[in-house]
Amino acid sequence: MLRRTKIVATLGPASSDPKVLEEMIRAGVNVVRMNFSHGTVQDHMARADKVRAAAAACGRTVGILADLQGPKIRVGKFENGKIELGEGDTFILDAAWDELGNQERVGLDYKELPNDVSKGSVLLLNDGMLEFDVIEVSGSQIICKVVRGGVLSNNKGINRKGGGLTAPALTDKDKADIKTAVLIKADYLAVSFPRSADDMKLARDLLHAAGGKSLLMAKIERAEAIPVLDEIISASDAIMVARGDLSVEVGDAAVPGLQKRMIKMARAKNKLVITATQMMESMITNPIPTRAEVSDVANAVLDGTDAVMLSAETAVGDYPVETIQAMVRICSQAEKEIEDNSMDHRLLYSKFTRVDQSIAMSALFAASHFKVKAIVALTQSGSTALWMSRMNADVPIFALTPIEATLTKVTLFSGVHPIAFKPSSKDPTVALRGAEDELVRLGLVADGDLMVMTIGEAIGKSGHTNTLKIVRVGDHKS
Ligand code: PGA
Ligand code: MN
Repeated sequence: MLRRTKIVATLGPASSDPKVLEEMIRAGVNVVRMNFSHGTVQDHMARADKVRAAAAACGRTVGILADLQGPKIRVGKFENGKIELGEGDTFILDAAWDELGNQERVGLDYKELPNDVSKGSVLLLNDGMLEFDVIEVSGSQIICKVVRGGVLSNNKGINRKGGGLTAPALTDKDKADIKTAVLIKADYLAVSFPRSADDMKLARDLLHAAGGKSLLMAKIERAEAIPVLDEIISASDAIMVARGDLSVEVGDAAVPGLQKRMIKMARAKNKLVITATQMMESMITNPIPTRAEVSDVANAVLDGTDAVMLSAETAVGDYPVETIQAMVRICSQAEKEIEDNSMDHRLLYSKFTRVDQSIAMSALFAASHFKVKAIVALTQSGSTALWMSRMNADVPIFALTPIEATLTKVTLFSGVHPIAFKPSSKDPTVALRGAEDELVRLGLVADGDLMVMTIGEAIGKSGHTNTLKIVRVGDHKS
């Protein structure tokens, strides 16, 4: 069975051995996420090479997502690596402290923090495990009372409840890392902690200035992003429901509803969406997921996410391959419950402004009113496949293209399967027959199957799809 939902796996020590990486790709990884919080330019280049070599060894197409670190709002390091704080303790976060931390105080990576908080602010540390009330801000010192204690170790993150930290989304390091993402030809570039559409526009300008073509992803993980979601999504090609930081900023109970809203909004705007963080958290140390995790992954599929993402599970976990296998199993089964919405109002009442979009939507309309085995898009940029994939027609969409960057880009599109194909002729009839033969050769369709195919008569030109054809496989031979 062809799985619709895509799986994104974060690369890390647990998945760096080429044999493990190949096993993960064979098990079903579609996109590898490279976390730019760790490593040098050389490391990133070597990692990208490693991912592409592993994909080639498996005969699979795998996309690369470069994830920028974003502003590091973190505590510094401690004398003994960590301390333990109890409820009621007083503890000082000190932006001017450049020695190692101790039981009384610790330094800050983000020097602006004392300006961004005031008496009464609530700070959450280590993904919300610890909670501090700000009692007083005095110069560089934030004097806090511990509301919820626990272990605080080196470089743990700090969030402010309700948002409001002024740190810009793109640090100098991120600006330099955008160039690295271009160098490694990342298919997707994720911006961490964007506050506004302007943050995304700046990232896009920098990306274009560096000559990059990556699709731009906004990680929605700040409270301030929620009221301006519409603008941020419009300014991006994709979003990530970044539940880790978002949960700390807006409160955990708000996140499931926001997830549904964001997925709906993204799809309605013809954008892509990843659901991320703690999806299979217990599989960091266990060979099977919890019941709640199984439901979480299945529900994200039912919400309409393009992809589900693994972080620590595949970066540092004990069971990276088993985690992918479990996700594949859960997604495949959940997809059987997805309701076909391809006949919804978007198809019936939308107005289209482009020829290629009209063809893509017509193909979807045909495929949902006339039982076909496949939708086949001969595409240059992948946009026809994107439009076709924004609704749930229960039909696989094969994106056939000679362009490597398009193949690796569509890896994230739900329901879209990349196939390398170079038409042997500029004659569209010949090209379509070649595509048909290739799909038969791959065992994806067989004689007698019906397919909806789209192509641009000006073969090889982007944005020129203008033809839709319904084909019965094998008919051209008789
Ligand atoms: P991160 O982003 O893993 O880079 O923090 C995802 C999230 O916050 O959920
Ligand atoms: Mn985050």
